[in-house]
Amino acid sequence: MFDRLKFPVFFGFVLFITGFLGLKVFSYFTHSELPDIMLTGIKKDGYVAGEVSVAINSNNGYKIDLISVFLDGDHVDVDGSRNIGKKVFNLPFKIDTVDLSDGKHTLNVAIIDSSRNKNRNEETIEFIVDNSDLKAAFLNQEYKVAQGHTIHAKVQTNKRVEKLDVQFLEKKYKFYPESEYANIYECFIPVDCDLNAGEYLLNARLKDFVGNEMSLASRVDIQEYNFPRQKGFIVDREKLEEEKEVSMSNKILEDAIEKWLQDSPNKKLWSGRFEMPIDVKRVTTYFGEVRTTPEKGHYLHKAVDILNSPKSVVWASQAGRIIIKDRFLLTGNTIVIDHGVGVFTIYCHLEDFADVEIGDMLKKGNKIGRLGMTGYANGYHLHWELRVNNVAVNPFQWVQKTF
Ligand SMILES: [Zn+2]
Repeated sequence: MFDRLKFPVFFGFVLFITGFLGLKVFSYFTHSELPDIMLTGIKKDGYVAGEVSVAINSNNGYKIDLISVFLDGDHVDVDGSRNIGKKVFNLPFKIDTVDLSDGKHTLNVAIIDSSRNKNRNEETIEFIVDNSDLKAAFLNQEYKVAQGHTIHAKVQTNKRVEKLDVQFLEKKYKFYPESEYANIYECFIPVDCDLNAGEYLLNARLKDFVGNEMSLASRVDIQEYNFPRQKGFIVDREKLEEEKEVSMSNKILEDAIEKWLQDSPNKKLWSGRFEMPIDVKRVTTYFGEVRTTPEKGHYLHKAVDILNSPKSVVWASQAGRIIIKDRFLLTGNTIVIDHGVGVFTIYCHLEDFADVEIGDMLKKGNKIGRLGMTGYANGYHLHWELRVNNVAVNPFQWVQKTF
């Protein structure tokens, strides 16, 4: 005989169980969502070495029955990959890459749930095995370069590397692949005019994609360069006053160059030598000449001044992107071209600009303006500057030698 109070509880319980089982059966027959796969410990196109710990994580609406793992098409026996019976789990396993050849391999993971539909999902990723030691060397054990010139350092490696930079004095410079597939990396290091001649060191550090690191050193012999002295350079005071009316401070130009340097492309936009941006009638001031003026005192003229007929055409000396086109107090109408990897050319005192805009990609020889004497200039000439990582170096070296 049922207790009058217990009967509804029992009835409720039976209803609950029936409902629960009913739902379970319903979901067994109708579940259609694909199981979820998340691989950790290995990435698409990622580099691996030695023993790699991988895990399959999954979070599903229905219990998982089975996981199959294939490496380059061969089945891999993974403990706990059968009769899983859980919705949420983490299945770890190891891949020993030591017996695999260096290069691309494929990992395939298939996952099947235990519903009536046996919903199946799979993921395939390619990864790269690299078990070889890292080898690297400077192409030259010593670089000889004069004050105010550019060191073109090269390092050869036995594989692509993730990171390669060099320390010269206080600064670090990045190496860039010489071509898309070569394992030769190159770096452009400016030597300031004011650096004392003598022996220095280039200290390079590199790291491959699996974490092997090494360091290298090469000597640099900085040779004395005889910077000539310039006599008599005076700009009319009245002209300077007029320039102030129409120009911006050169501090703005310098700040803009510093800012654009951060955005310089990671590859050379040029190939071959740089060309003179104007036919040379005469060079009036060579690179590094010691100049004395009432406004600036003693300083080195870290550019070249080239004379030609007033208003003759000025060309882009190499391919690159225009980053600055404006008028400044000292440099007058100024164009700056970014040639990639932190190499900029600067063209000053232009009479006017050609039909070019900031952002334009120029080819070597595109017209950028006409020869003028705007800014701090005492006659028609082109002040042409080349900067490597914002240090002015002799542009004639870039005309004579292929960088
Ligand atoms: Zn000049």
